[in-house]
Amino acid sequence: MYLSSSYGEMGNIFAPTRDTLSKAAETIKNGGLVAFPTETVYGLGANALDAAAVRKIFDAKGRPQDNPLILHVANIREASLYADMNPSAELLMQHFWPGPLTIVLYSSDIVPLVTRGNLETVALRVPMNYIALELIHATGLPIAAPSANRSGRPSPTNAETVRNDLGSAVDMIIDGGASSIGVESTVIDATGKKIAILRPGGVTREMLEHIVDVEAEGSSNHARSPGTRHKHYAPSIGVSLWQNDNFEIFSEPAGSWCYLGMRQPPEGSAAQIIFHSLGEYAHELFHALRKLERCGAKRIIADLPEGDGIGEAIRNRLIRAAGC
Ligand code: AMP
Ligand code: MG
Repeated sequence: MYLSSSYGEMGNIFAPTRDTLSKAAETIKNGGLVAFPTETVYGLGANALDAAAVRKIFDAKGRPQDNPLILHVANIREASLYADMNPSAELLMQHFWPGPLTIVLYSSDIVPLVTRGNLETVALRVPMNYIALELIHATGLPIAAPSANRSGRPSPTNAETVRNDLGSAVDMIIDGGASSIGVESTVIDATGKKIAILRPGGVTREMLEHIVDVEAEGSSNHARSPGTRHKHYAPSIGVSLWQNDNFEIFSEPAGSWCYLGMRQPPEGSAAQIIFHSLGEYAHELFHALRKLERCGAKRIIADLPEGDGIGEAIRNRLIRAAGC
């Protein structure tokens, strides 16, 4: 239950009331920026069809211009206004929307080039979060929304983190509590014969393979997803990965490192966060990285988990946070 009055001191953070959501919709229709919750992470939204509004997203985040944005739409019919549909894409939409699956298709000319990073394709998804869906319905527009963090930083999974990163660069932040999944959507390229996974996420390879042909792991061409070229998810101190039996990474003096992961580390951590399942690891990952960067240690040691499904998404984010 939200009490609007408790938000009085919180600047541009608002409870998701009917009034707030209609004000947020007006803000987007007028070319402003609204950060809002989704089931994956918080998004920084603008009217995807308004090039000037979309440029504000790139400015607020410090995002490279060649990193295209995801269009958040209300349903499959709306998606078909902005992209060339094909049967396997439509099948996947029917199965996984609303949900954490972003589908890249050839774009319609209506979508400005700045929104799609000058590509001939466009990325689309329907989020599974009632606040995000209310906002999309209330605007009647596709909302372009990358994660609501400064470019390169761990993604935000709550409203306060958005404010800490973006402050007054965003007109309104809608507080919908902690994101339920905690890592970003799976991004797939559906323009070819087989589906290519460009970024692992909440919808796993196994789930996709039940429905369509998917390119084998490692065969996908990452140049097709510009976002994977840039530094991302990095906290302000270095990250080292604990994988297999490389115990030597714990050899630095006690107190100089902190830890997150599913295994028990050796003695000597300045702070540690232990997760009991992959789901919990995904849910807490970005928040934990932001917490540990302030623990006074010089380095974060992260346990690289095994396992399929969401484990693949966690490994992907950790490897990139470590700059490998
Ligand atoms: P973000 O919303 O910041 O988590 O990033 C969106 C991700 O979707 C990035 O990795 C982009 O590279 C990817 N993406 C968005 N549009 C396209 C597109 N048209 N083609 C390929 N990848 C895309
Ligand atoms: Mg991002």
